[in-house]
Amino acid sequence: MKHLGKRILAVAVVLGVTIGLIGLMSGKHFGQVKEQVQTKYLYAMDTYFILSAYGPEGEEALNQCEEKVMALEAALSVTQNDSDVVKVNTKGTAVVSEDTFLLIQKALTLCEETGGALDITLYPVLREWGFTTDSYQVPDEQELKLLLEKVDYQGIVAEESDRNIQVPQGAELDLGAVAKGYTGDCLIEIMQQNGVSSAMLDLGGNVQTLGSKPDGSPWRIAIRDPFYMNGEAGSVNEVGVLEVIDKCVITSGSYERYFEENGERYWHILDPADGCPADSGLVSVTVVGDSGVRCDGLSTALFVMGKDEAVDFWRQANDFEMILMTEDRELYITEGLEESFVCSEGWNATVISR
Ligand code: AMP
Ligand code: MG
Repeated sequence: MKHLGKRILAVAVVLGVTIGLIGLMSGKHFGQVKEQVQTKYLYAMDTYFILSAYGPEGEEALNQCEEKVMALEAALSVTQNDSDVVKVNTKGTAVVSEDTFLLIQKALTLCEETGGALDITLYPVLREWGFTTDSYQVPDEQELKLLLEKVDYQGIVAEESDRNIQVPQGAELDLGAVAKGYTGDCLIEIMQQNGVSSAMLDLGGNVQTLGSKPDGSPWRIAIRDPFYMNGEAGSVNEVGVLEVIDKCVITSGSYERYFEENGERYWHILDPADGCPADSGLVSVTVVGDSGVRCDGLSTALFVMGKDEAVDFWRQANDFEMILMTEDRELYITEGLEESFVCSEGWNATVISR
C-alpha cells in the first residue's frame, strides 16, 4: 500500500511539474505575464496534500507550510510516539504545544455546540473497530458498551495557565475529525504572512482557498460523487462543481474509510451515542465556510446528526453553507450556494431555504 502510495505521489509530481512547465512555456510563447504557481505535494496525516500558491512569495510560503504540516502531524498524531495526543492518552495528563492546546479548545467548543455528535474522546472505540490501524473488526457488543462509558468530552480539563490537558481515567483523545481543518487554517495564515494572496490547499479532499485565482475568477471545486467508487454504470466522478473565493470546502463521507464484513458496510464516522458507524441516512456532508477547523468539525458532526438535525443546526448557526447527499442519492444544497453550485449531468439538487 505504501509503495503504491509513493508511486501515485511520484506520478502526481511528474504530472504537476509537466503541467507547470507547459503553463510557463505557453505563457512565454504568447508573451503573457503569468502569475507563477508553485505546488508542493506531501504525504501527511495519512493522506495526500497538494498545496499551490501563486506569486513570487509562493516558494518560501510553501516551504514554511511543509514544516508546519510536519510539526502538526508530530503533535496531533494518535499513533506517532511522543505526539502530544499519545502523551495525553498514555499518561492521562500532559502539557501540550500551543497548537494542540488551541485545537483542543476549539474542538471542545464544537463538541458542546453539536451536543456531543462530535466527541474527541472516541479513540478507545475507534481503536476497537480498527479504524486507527486498518485491522478492522466488528467489536463485541459488551466490550463496546464498556468502552463507551469512557467516552465523554465533558471530562476533559484544559488548563490555560500551563497548557495542561487532562482526561478522565480510560478516556483517550482522537483529533482526526478536526486536525486537517486546523492545519489548513495554519497554512492559510502562513500564506498571508508571506504576502501570498492567491492559494489553493487540498488536504486530502479538505479544500481551503485563499483569495481568488490570480485572474480574479473563483476557484472551481468538484464535489465528489460518494457512489462513484461502487463503479456503477453511468455514474460520473462528481455530483457538481462549486465556485468559491476565500472559503473552506470540507467533506466527510462514509466512502472515505470503511470495511465490509458479512455483507455489511462499516464506516469510520461513529455515533458517540452508541459507538457504531453513524447510520443517519447521509453518505456525505460538505461544509462551506470561513474557518477550516469549524467546517471540519461540523462536517463530521452533521454527518452523525443526519439531514433533518443538520438542517436545523444550519438554520440556527448562520455562518456556513452545506451540501448533503443521502443514501438514496438525494442531493441537497443550502440556499447560500444556489448561485455558486452547478450540478453535473444527471444530478439535481434540492435547495434548502432558511
Ligand atoms: P472526518 O473525515 O473529518 O469526518 O473525520 C473522521 C475521523 O474523525 C475518523 O476517522 C475518526 O478518527 C474521527 N471520528 C469519527 N467519528 C467521530 C465523532 N463522532 N466525533 C469525533 N471524531 C470522530
Ligand atoms: Mg471533520
